Formats: sequence, structure tokens, C-alpha cells
Amino acid sequence: MRKKILVTGGAGFLGSHLCERLLADGNEVVCLDNYFTGQKENVVHLLKNPYFELIRHDVTMPFMIEVDEIFNLACPASPIHYQYNPIKTVKTSVMGAINMLGLAKRIRAKILQASTSEVYGDPKIHPQKETYWGHVNPIGDRACYDEGKRAAETLFVNYHRQNNVRIKIVRIFNTYGPRMHPNDGRVVSNFIVQALLGNDITVYGDGSQTRSFCYVDDLIDGLIRMMNTDDSFTGPVNMGNPHEFTILELAEKVISLVGSKSRIVFKPLPNDDPTQRQPDITIARNKLQWEPKVQLDEGLKSTIDYFKKIIDHSKEPIII
Ligand code: NAD
Ligand code: UDP
Repeated sequence: MRKKILVTGGAGFLGSHLCERLLADGNEVVCLDNYFTGQKENVVHLLKNPYFELIRHDVTMPFMIEVDEIFNLACPASPIHYQYNPIKTVKTSVMGAINMLGLAKRIRAKILQASTSEVYGDPKIHPQKETYWGHVNPIGDRACYDEGKRAAETLFVNYHRQNNVRIKIVRIFNTYGPRMHPNDGRVVSNFIVQALLGNDITVYGDGSQTRSFCYVDDLIDGLIRMMNTDDSFTGPVNMGNPHEFTILELAEKVISLVGSKSRIVFKPLPNDDPTQRQPDITIARNKLQWEPKVQLDEGLKSTIDYFKKIIDHSKEPIII
């Protein structure tokens, strides 16, 4: 049956892939975005589909619509962008959650929250399980994002307990792929663009910090599986690729896959940059029969191909 689905942050990196997949599955999709870090170009190819609708709206303001499901993705995800206007980032997470949960309550829609591994902060437990409460600096540079997302989780569980809203919480770990913005600022897009342009590869700190990188198609598949689970399963559930790499290993891999002459240079490590991150995905495996299929080399190759085309066709210089 065709469902009507709202995707907030739908013109962003993950949101645009999600809209595409939901439409391909035969649903009607309403994409809502304020274009802070997303862009119309990410979804322009969907506009010819009569079941797709694009609306400029900021989730900090109330919004009314009749839909069956809501995927709440609106929020800048890259540290440079979420730290640009930290107060707005908190508002987006918290007021966005209140507005979307209020809507879900009123229209009895099911609602999924794009939460994050950042709720674990700089984790002291490794790998991270959903039962871990985290290690977050509430007054640090990343707090606007981390605490905003933690408060959003609190709002989700309380709307569920108090008002029986059907909720799903997914804690997404570093995800990459085509349609990341060349100036997004996150590590995978930075390194690929730098390698393709022959610029220095900027490793922050000594590069010994780790991340686990999930390819976008795997993540989107996981989000949809989660939305389709029984109402009794609310999460939170970790979603990410459990293969862990140091940032220096990633830099070397990108240089070799691109065949680049770029040099690695070391820059200061940002404040509170987590030293390690790896998801325990036992719950996703058991409850959703989900695990990532695309490993880093393969995912990097398709992301590199995407950025090659972007750089070749860009009318403006890409400075990174
Ligand atoms: P993105 O920056 O590409 O997408 C975010 C989208 O939200 C953009 O289109 C932006 O314009 C929109 N947006 C921001 N503030 C808004 C507002 N106030 N009102 C309406 N729209 C607004 O980032 P992404 O990687 O696609 O992330 C999507 C979601 O997934 C975010 O909530 C992010 O926190 C979460 N997430 C992503 C990752 C990842 O690795 N990609 C990891 C953890 C969590
Ligand atoms: N990083 C880096 N060089 C860059 C961008 C990021 O070394 O040009 C590092 C960053 O310090 C962090 C890791 O890569 O340790 C992942 O950063 P990203 O911003 O992608 O996401 P995070 O997981 O920190 O939110």
C-alpha cells in the first residue's frame, strides 16, 4: 500500500537518498528542508515524480500535514556546520523534535529520529552498546549537537511513554557516500576532494583517533527496516559499519585509491574530538536482520567516482 511519508532534512545527504528509496518503493514523499546544509540539487531529479513534493520549511517552526510516517533528519551533521550557529543547532534538534513529535501525536503517525553515535561523546566503553550512557562534555564545542540530540531522544521516549506516540530511535555512526557536499567538512569528503585536487590531506591530531564508516545505501536500508518494525520495538538501535579504522589509515587508503600525489599534513585536533568509535550492532543484527554489506574500499570507490564528476562539472572553484 502506498504510504505518505514526511522526510525532514530531505534535501541533505542522507535525506535525499532516503527520499529516493522511499519513492522507488512506491510511496508518496514530502521532503521538508530549510537548505542550511542541504540543497535542491540533491532532489531536483525527483521533482518529475508526481508523488514527490518539496517544501522549504524550518523545523523550529510548527508544521501541519497528514502523513503516515515521519523520518526526522533535519539537523546539520558536520562539526563545522553545527558549530557555526550552535544555538540554532540546539533549537533545530530540540524544537524540531517537539514540533515533529507534536505532529506525530496529533495525526497518529509513526516517527523515526535520526540520532547519532555522538550521544556517546568521547566513549569510555568500546565498542559502544546502546546500554552505554555516554561521556559527553555538556559545555564543549560539540555539546550543541550532542546534547541537542540527547534531549531529542529524551523527548522521543517521553512522547512514547506519556502519549503512546509510536517512535523509533536510530543512533547513526559515521556514514558517507555520493551527494555529500564538497565543502561538507566531514573527513571522507574532505580527504577525497583534497586527494582529487592534489591538495594536502588534512589529518587532525596525529590521526590515531578511530571511526567506523558506513556506506549510505546500507544505512538507508537500515532506517527503512527500523521504521517497518513492530510498534513495540522503539530502539535506540546503533546503525553503522563495525569495521574500525584510524583516520591516518583512511587518509592513506584514499590517497592510494585516487592514485593521488597529495601529501598528508597534520593540523590541530579539534576540542573534544572523540578518540575512538565503533558500533556494537548486535541489536540491529538480531531485531532487523541488518548488517552493512558495502566495505570501505568499495564504498570509497563509488564516492570517489561521484566527486570526480562534481569537480569536473563544477562552475566554481572548490576550495578546501
Ligand atoms: P546534512 O547536513 O547533509 O543534512 C541535514 C539536512 O537538514 C540538510 O538538508 C539541512 O539543510 C537540513 N536542516 C538543517 N537544519 C534544519 C532546520 N532547522 N529545518 C529544516 N531543515 C534543516 O547531514 P546528513 O549527514 O544527511 O545527516 C542527516 C541526519 O542524520 C542529521 O540529523 C544527522 O544528525 C544524522 N546523522 C548523520 C550521520 C552521518 O554520518 N551522515 C551520523 C549521525 C547522525
Ligand atoms: N578529520 C580530519 N581531517 C579532516 C576532517 C576530519 O582528520 O579534514 C578527523 C576529525 O578530527 C575526526 C574524524 O576525522 O577525528 C571524523 O571527523 P568528522 O568531522 O567526519 O566526524 P565526527 O565523527 O568527528 O563527527
